Amino acid sequence: MQIKSAEFVISSPDVSGCPPPDRPEYAFIGRSNVGKSSLINHMTNRKKLAKTSSTPGKTQLINHFLINESWYLVDLPGYGWAQTSKTNKAAWKKMIHSYLEQRQSLACVFVLVDSRHEPQKIDLEFMEWLGTEAIPFSIVFTKADKLGKTQIQSNVALYKKIMKKTWEELPPTFITSSADRVGGEEILEFIERINAEIVG
Ligand code: GDP
Repeated sequence: MQIKSAEFVISSPDVSGCPPPDRPEYAFIGRSNVGKSSLINHMTNRKKLAKTSSTPGKTQLINHFLINESWYLVDLPGYGWAQTSKTNKAAWKKMIHSYLEQRQSLACVFVLVDSRHEPQKIDLEFMEWLGTEAIPFSIVFTKADKLGKTQIQSNVALYKKIMKKTWEELPPTFITSSADRVGGEEILEFIERINAEIVG
């Protein structure tokens, strides 16, 4: 998919502030620092569409971007800041869960995980929750440039092996590096296919 336009639309404190759900929507989420902003900028070919390295404690908002005037890319606040208070965690959960449960136009959630790490409890639990809510998702492995090809393959295989313990069917997976500009096009093609199914 060629990105012809990518515009910031609105930052919303909750699902009621989001734009009308009149286009297919794709949300990106993951632990803070996983490389979410970098991936969004890589995919959209914009240097600063998503702001990189946000600081802990800063206001957490749902950020909508309109792509090619036909679908929404949503940048959701990351989870897992070590320093975050219980109040912040509860606020994050309330906002994210209600957005994910209520957003009718949500076509797929991309859950970003750092390809260097073994499966983390916080990510696995979040995906379990998506499963119980029947929310479609894919896994995006980030920062692949930091590992060799063999290591990436074995990390991804381990991830799938662990997920197979609880999942009958595995979600689609993507291996990406924003630094090397790898993997963004595959995600965009995947989105294009879903958009074609939805719009008909
Ligand atoms: P976010 O908090 O999830 O939005 O993460 P950022 O996109 O701000 O990235 C966090 C850190 O990881 C920054 O220092 C980025 O430069 C770095 N980073 C992000 N993506 C990549 C990547 O593909 N390769 C490498 N080597 N570093 C990356």
